[in-house]
Amino acid sequence: MMFARLLSPYRCPPMKILVANWKMELGVRESVALARGVVRGLRGLKEVPHVYLAPSHPALTDVAKVLGRSRVLLAAQDVFGEVQGAYTGFVSAKQIKEVGAGAVIIGHSERRMFAGETDADVARKFAQAVEHHLDPIVCVGEPAAVRENGEALAYVHDQLDAILASADVSKRRRLIVAYEPIWAIGSGVTPTIHDVREMHRAIRERFEEAGMERVSVLYGGSVNSENVYEFVSDSEVDGVLVGGASTRLNSLMELIGVVSEVS
Ligand code: PEP
Repeated sequence: MMFARLLSPYRCPPMKILVANWKMELGVRESVALARGVVRGLRGLKEVPHVYLAPSHPALTDVAKVLGRSRVLLAAQDVFGEVQGAYTGFVSAKQIKEVGAGAVIIGHSERRMFAGETDADVARKFAQAVEHHLDPIVCVGEPAAVRENGEALAYVHDQLDAILASADVSKRRRLIVAYEPIWAIGSGVTPTIHDVREMHRAIRERFEEAGMERVSVLYGGSVNSENVYEFVSDSEVDGVLVGGASTRLNSLMELIGVVSEVS
């Protein structure tokens, strides 16, 4: 790997990515302890994948302190689509940046479902993230009925078109899209690697058409230490977004271990 890199840095596939979405599962102290465990676990490793930890908003500042200058990156779980103002309870991209996060999850299906976020809301959030130099981790994915009707590609296409129209993506340094079929999240059910590959290709093509070739496409939905290899070893899969299995140190470190093996 090292030798190949010396010969031609461009031939090596980029490092794989793991995003740990802790949702509303952990308190501040638990988030800090888990972040500490990850930083310790990665110490001494020469090559580590890009690991993003996404605690809930109240834990961002403390987790940022733990991550300090480590190679582990901090992501928020959501951002509001306006710059500033009378928006009680919302959090802006600037505030997220201020507490030390470098990335933000946008359009997670749980936000679309429980907070009623529309594609237009997601597009505004995306534009804010891009404007404030946060790496956007945009979640897209279809409900079960849409997949059964054979309309999954068109559904995700529409979700992507909404965000692509909202900001100039060609200037982005890093842009991450997580393909998360809604029916696979927290269900223990996963799509076939064939379906994931097909969707990832379609997502990449859509970004290429918009002048953005460096998009990383992750898979998310019931990833665990048993199935993670099948996903991350595929050349169409740049990494994984993990919910449940990322909230315990042992399973998170197992996942990171597998992802770093294939990176
Ligand atoms: C998620 O939070 O986006 C997710 C994929 O959750 P889980 O891994 O628990 O299915």
